[in-house]
Order: sequence, then C-alpha cells, then structure tokens
Amino acid sequence: MSAPIALFDVKAQQALIREDLDRRIAAVLDSGRFINGPEVAELEEKLAAFAGCAHAVGVSSGTDALQIAMMAEGVGPGDAVFLPAFTYTATAEVPLVLGATPVFVDVEAETFNIDIADLERRIAAVKKDGRLKPRAVVGVDLFGLPADWTAIEAICAREGMFALDDAAQAFGATLGNRRLGCWAHATALSFYPTKTLGAYGDGGALLTNDPDRAELYRSLRTHGEGKTRYAVERTGMNGRLDTIQATILLAKLALFDGELAQRKRLGAAYDAALAGRVGVQATPPGAENAYGLYTIRLADAAARSRVQAALTEQKIGSGIYYPKPLHHQPAYAAHHAGCIAGGPAPLPVSEALCDQVLSLPMHPYMSEADATRAAGVVLAAL
Ligand SMILES: *Cc1c(COP(=O)(O)O)cnc(C)c1O
Repeated sequence: MSAPIALFDVKAQQALIREDLDRRIAAVLDSGRFINGPEVAELEEKLAAFAGCAHAVGVSSGTDALQIAMMAEGVGPGDAVFLPAFTYTATAEVPLVLGATPVFVDVEAETFNIDIADLERRIAAVKKDGRLKPRAVVGVDLFGLPADWTAIEAICAREGMFALDDAAQAFGATLGNRRLGCWAHATALSFYPTKTLGAYGDGGALLTNDPDRAELYRSLRTHGEGKTRYAVERTGMNGRLDTIQATILLAKLALFDGELAQRKRLGAAYDAALAGRVGVQATPPGAENAYGLYTIRLADAAARSRVQAALTEQKIGSGIYYPKPLHHQPAYAAHHAGCIAGGPAPLPVSEALCDQVLSLPMHPYMSEADATRAAGVVLAAL
C-alpha cells in the first residue's frame, strides 16, 4: 500500500519556518500589541506590493472582507447583487445580511466561473422587472482560476455597478499579467488555513487601488471610527485582523512564491494525466490558475461516487466543492425564487456541476508523482 495523500496539508509547511514563527509569535506576546500591532501594517504593505495594487487593508476574514466592501458602497435593501450560484455560501450570505438581494448567475461548465452571457441576461431581467436596482457583481475566481474580469469590469462600467472580486480561493493567480487584486474596484482575500495563503486561524484582506475606498475600509473595520478614536462617523463593525495572524502570514509570505510554483506544477501534472478523459478546469488565454483546489468534472453522480470510493480505498483525500448550488440551499431558496416576478431563469450548469465535481489533493507539500498517482486511481475507476 502506498503512502496516503491528503487533500490539504496545513502542517508540512510549519517545519520549514517553525523557528521564524516561534520568534515572531514570541515577539507579539512580549509586545502585548495583540490588536493593531505594527505587523498588521507591515503585512498590508507586503500584500499590496505582491498584488501590484495601491492599498491593502487587513480584516478579520474573507467573509468580513466582502461585507466591509459592500458596506462601503452602501449596498442594502432594494439592491441586486449578481453572483455565481456555484460558489461558497459566504458570497451569497453577505448581501442578505445587508438587506440586499443576491441574484444567482449560472457558471460555465468549462471554467466553473460566472457565465458572462447569463450575467447579461439576468441584469436585463432585473432591469425589466424594475423592483431591484442592479448594484454590484461579485465575481468569484473559483478554485483559483480568475473569472473573466475584462468582461465583468466592462459590464460594471457600462451599468454603473460595483465590481467586487471574491478572490478568497485565488490569491496569487494572474490574469493578463496582472495579479488578482488590481482587477475590479476591490478584491476580497481570505486567509482561512486551507486557502493559498492561509493563517492559523481566521483572517482576510481587501485590496484596492482607490484611496477613498481604502480609507473607508479602515474605518468600517474599526466600528466606523473617524480620524480620532471614539469619533464614530458611520456604522461599522469589529472586522480587524489580529497581530498574531498578521505575523504568521508575514512568515508564510516568504514561502509563497515557491508554493504557487509548486501548485502550478501539480496542476500541470494532473492536466497531463487527466485532460481528455475527465473534465478539467479550462484555463482561458491570459489566465494563470493559483490552484487553491484541483477540481475535475465526471460524467455523473454515480461515476463520482465510484471514483471517490476508489480514492478513499487508496487513502487519497478528495472533496466535493460544492454538493448543492446556492439557490437550492434552504436559507437562500426563497430569496432566489422571489428576486424576479414569476421566478428567475433556471441555472442548469450550476446544478449539473454539483453532481459531477470532485476535488483532488492539492497542496504545495505533495509531489508531482503524488498527483500522477492520484490521477491514475481516478482513471482506473472511471
Ligand atoms: C473561503 C471563502 C470565503 C470566505 O472566507 P472566510 O475567510 O472563510 O470568511 C468567501 N468566498 C469564497 C469563494 C471562499 O472560498
């Protein structure tokens, strides 16, 4: 029996930077500056430089990054926020928390990302319906692959809408030689431990080139405070990134380029073994996948169960992201049904993908031989 291969490994990296981590954490403990320590600002500078954008604002999670970005635009009741039906729940939860209405858009079977033609149709339908104001598009770079930001930005410019990049799974990806982070009006990152850049707890950031938005984000993450403390200028929230997570991320940033390169090699090894036999996530011209996950598409739910059982048998990890499209989730179904009079158009690709997709082991501390072996087990079980 060969060695197990985990879907994620959030510990292997620690051995490489353990001394630096221990030293950094001890320094924060000694300083006592657990909130707003200088490490937060240092991380923000490095994140902005890495992404090639003007401003980075550390926040408490990817979900809070999305929320702060939408609060800054004043998104609320009467607003339609367009987002893919095939994504993590947080993308849809935030507009609802703010009283706005998510309008689910179908995705492409090849890239798993938002379908631009369907986005256009749904914007037109919301305008015709007349009850909601098209207000924002949240593009998700699913599994690490950039969405079609050229098209999303053009639509948002034409319609006067806010373009928000949910890059929670895709930090490190590029599109047309620009890193994600400088596309869209703002980009939300998550540092959840299994993301491409993960903390040892919750964390997130907002990236933007707009100085006014950056200033608003800083205010909103600290209860809407103004220039002086306890001058509350707007309704905000407690959405800060804590100092220990910031210093952990600084230690991890030293490894990030090498990790992204390994993720790319693993993606290429999987593609070489699997393309043509199963559906692999297609990379559009000019895009580079950060491979937060490596996800294949099988013929149907039965084929997926068979393949997943074969992987489990060989102690190879796998995961289903996502088993249910968001418009079928009990919490969202009624909002979905009511977003347009008479009910919105169906979302057939999102529904089909939920029966077909399977994510294979993907983390920078596995080898290309591991990827090839996992791919071999998939092929043998087809
Ligand atoms: C992880 C994730 C989020 C939320 O990030 P948290 O840090 O867990 O709050 C949002 N959107 C997508 C697409 C995600 O994968």
